[in-house]
Amino acid sequence: MSDVSKSLNFIEHIIEDDLSKGFSKDKLRFRFPPEPNGYLHIGHASSICLNFGLGLRYSAPVNLRFDDTNPAKEEQEYVDAIKRDVAWLGFTWDKELYASDYFQQLYDWAIKLIKEGKAYVDSQSSEDVAIQKGTPTEPGTNSPFRDRSIEENLALFQDMKAGKYQAGEHVLRAKIDMASSNMLMRDPIIYRILHKAHHRTNTDWCIYPMYDWTHGESDYLEQVSHSFCTLEFAMHRELYDWFLDQVIEPNKVRPKQREFARRNFSHTVVSKRKLLQLVEKGVVTGWDDPRMPTISGLRRKGYTPEAIVNFANTIGIAKRDNVVDVSLLEFSIREHLNKIAPRVMAVLDPVKLVITNYPEGQEEWLEAENNPEDETAGTREVPFSRELFIEQEDFKEEANKKFFRLKLGGEVRLKNGYIIKAESCTKDADGTVTEIQCTYDPKSKSGSGNEESLRKVKGTLHWVSIKHAVTAEIRMYDRLFTDETPDQHKDKDFMDFINPDSLKCITGYLEPSLQNAKVEDIFQFQRIGYFNVDKDSTAENLVFNKTVGLRDTWAKIQDKH
Ligand code: ATP
Ligand code: MG
Repeated sequence: MSDVSKSLNFIEHIIEDDLSKGFSKDKLRFRFPPEPNGYLHIGHASSICLNFGLGLRYSAPVNLRFDDTNPAKEEQEYVDAIKRDVAWLGFTWDKELYASDYFQQLYDWAIKLIKEGKAYVDSQSSEDVAIQKGTPTEPGTNSPFRDRSIEENLALFQDMKAGKYQAGEHVLRAKIDMASSNMLMRDPIIYRILHKAHHRTNTDWCIYPMYDWTHGESDYLEQVSHSFCTLEFAMHRELYDWFLDQVIEPNKVRPKQREFARRNFSHTVVSKRKLLQLVEKGVVTGWDDPRMPTISGLRRKGYTPEAIVNFANTIGIAKRDNVVDVSLLEFSIREHLNKIAPRVMAVLDPVKLVITNYPEGQEEWLEAENNPEDETAGTREVPFSRELFIEQEDFKEEANKKFFRLKLGGEVRLKNGYIIKAESCTKDADGTVTEIQCTYDPKSKSGSGNEESLRKVKGTLHWVSIKHAVTAEIRMYDRLFTDETPDQHKDKDFMDFINPDSLKCITGYLEPSLQNAKVEDIFQFQRIGYFNVDKDSTAENLVFNKTVGLRDTWAKIQDKH
């Protein structure tokens, strides 16, 4: 038991504490409550893993509840995307529920509040309401409409619902305390008029409940035992409790709101509102653009659910806001793909290499291991011939001893193939190497078992036979923002930090086994990184996304500065 309790986070301690005080384990119930106003992002993964993780730990149901009270921003497309993403991450919700399912109940409870003298219709402008709120150090002032009679309030509220008024003409406010030290308790608005069709209730309603009024009551209706939200709602807890007090009945579970820190991630933004701007302004091609920190963007880029869940669980749940370095997420996907991704050879920045003592017109198929990390992965054959591509950066005319790649007079092994020696090279007018002439040692073939095949040379290069190469469009991604915390500058907008070079499209030369790669298939391009087949890919025009490099090059670049 002590081992288990050591690994508990502070949220689990809250639950354990309740259980030890007699709260019945079978009454535990959680929810994940997204607003369908955009796609889920990597920040949501933390909340999803927290809530669904608790469900698994305590064998308790977890609802997927859409917090859909603002038809101006919400859409069915987002509901569908959110369901897809949660399921893809591997979680199963107990019930799919909507705050809009409770519109009638919330309305009935609002009537009850009015009848008890605890809510009133305010007919001032929103500016006046704001001025009267006061400041954290000064109390607010009562609205001139605060003492309307119950009859008048009921009539006005019913007329609001019946559509007799325009947006902004009236609001319904809870009558709590205009002098409360908590500004949120100063007669918060609980209903507003909005003549807008809702993606589920259509035009049934033209008044919509506000977040605070909706959230706690929805938790109560679902008998959620623990309602976890991010820290910005800490001050809302008092109001959450006040609203519960108005409706709670004996023998019912009283939901408990507790807060944890919102996660921020370096070199990106995690806010649906800001991500929507990137989509609308065409900075990215859509919510699932592989540069987006959305779950669907990460999926398209080649991330696996295992890597995302593992990452979220590794960073855990914090009490204070902080910025998580995205290289941790990259570490997580690299680790997973190392285990599962088949190895292949691809050259992305080619230079021609001719093996002068290899007979013209000859070719052979060399056996290559698909994945040294996975014994069951088997082998495939790759074609070898006299003319190959290798990477530009793998050859230098002259280099010091630490350069283990190819240099004039030096030897390297061609992966799965032979040892070659660079004899000479040809250059263009600018001095760029356009062709390397080599000789090969026919007895050095990998796996042939003879003595020469065991000869060790320092470097091994990947290569592709030019005649057999398949070309593909390769999309190389970099950070979307040049700044580590683009949305945390007082004097600048996050859009000022867009990285103009976040996408580069190049042509890659791939071994022919990749001709039949299917959308979402993922590979390790040996010595380069992990790449998956993009949904834009066709048989005629293969398209790959770079998921992540083999090493953390970003950290290296940072070190140099
Ligand atoms: P956004 O600003 O992106 O719209 P939100 O909090 O308004 O974020 P919701 O759809 O309300 O988005 O979020 C559903 C749940 O996910 C909430 O409980 C919220 O607290 C949590 N959540 C959202 N963003 C993060 C984050 N960056 N880190 C941790 N939890 C988050
Ligand atoms: Mg929100």
